[in-house]
Amino acid sequence: MDLRIERLQRQAAQCSGVLSLAGGLPLTSLLPTAALLGSVRELSPDQRDEALQYGWPEGSDALRAWVADGLRARGARVDASDVLITSGAQQALSLLVFVLGLNGQRVCVDPLTYPGALDLFRHHDARLVTEGCARVRYVVPGVSNPTGLGMAGAERQHVLGAPADFLIADEAYAELRYDGLTERPLFLDAPERVFHVGTLSKTLWPGLRVGWIVAPPSFRAELLDAKRDADLQAPSLTQALAVRILATLDWRRHLECARSKYVARIARLMHSVRRRLPEFSCVEPEGGFSLFLQCRERRLDEMKLLEAATRLGTSFDPGRMFRANADGAGCGLRLSPCNVPEELIDEAVRRLSRAVAVCRNAQ
Ligand code: PMP
Repeated sequence: MDLRIERLQRQAAQCSGVLSLAGGLPLTSLLPTAALLGSVRELSPDQRDEALQYGWPEGSDALRAWVADGLRARGARVDASDVLITSGAQQALSLLVFVLGLNGQRVCVDPLTYPGALDLFRHHDARLVTEGCARVRYVVPGVSNPTGLGMAGAERQHVLGAPADFLIADEAYAELRYDGLTERPLFLDAPERVFHVGTLSKTLWPGLRVGWIVAPPSFRAELLDAKRDADLQAPSLTQALAVRILATLDWRRHLECARSKYVARIARLMHSVRRRLPEFSCVEPEGGFSLFLQCRERRLDEMKLLEAATRLGTSFDPGRMFRANADGAGCGLRLSPCNVPEELIDEAVRRLSRAVAVCRNAQ
């Protein structure tokens, strides 16, 4: 991550009174925290001992079975033994970079995509491209980060037909489409070349660090070794807690509730943006909890705007974090309305509009 962005965002996070629109964090009030804490007390002594001991690198069988059930409900023919539990989706991506030998290779990504993946690929000297042949095509189907758009049928076929040896389908937000549709996982159509990645970080707590990979069978042994080499296993305790919560939670209702809360917050944010930031255009997201804005004026500088916003008590994620290629892209902002009380979303946007005015006057 660009150190200047990180410094400003840490500064904003540490200041009380800042209404931050930065970060892709799920809404805390949505999460069944009391049930989670209750489930710790409900663990039997044996379960508690197990939860605090070493486990196997592939992860908890119960959790793997839950992931496989979810994928089977979407038409996939998988069982628990096909799933590798990782320490979040980020580690899944990191293991794939290693196993697929992406150092120095061409990796094809969308022009705007998840910064954690971009940074990871760059740190391994992968050559990022947005079209053409590549060792790997990385996609975020279902709900993209940062635009919140889904993948239409034609685009899906295009991606499957991409001239890449392998595809990484990162479904971090896929269950948060506002229309509730979860499409066929891409690996159903090309099981020998698609690596499917998922996580509980957007639907439950990112702090659990629970993610997973379903890999083509020929890569599974190598991935398991890579997982063992990296950290032996995903944490037993958080896997055990996740299993308890998932056994007691009505998952479908939980997702419905999440979608309806996110769509309402996004609508409120869009309303304020259209009123207060007319120089920005935004595409209405189809899911997730962020909004990507693009400034119509090319001269507004993202970093100067972030500095001014931080001084004026708000923050955002600058577009450059999400761009595979920063050249001449203008000023973009990702805003997430989950970190501020709902009734203060408009005030956060008002502060942002003041920051825009400050930057314009300084030009
Ligand atoms: N993929 C995408 C598209 C994401 O947005 C994120 C988190 N922002 C991740 C992966 C990483 O998720 P995790 O917390 O499971 O490592």
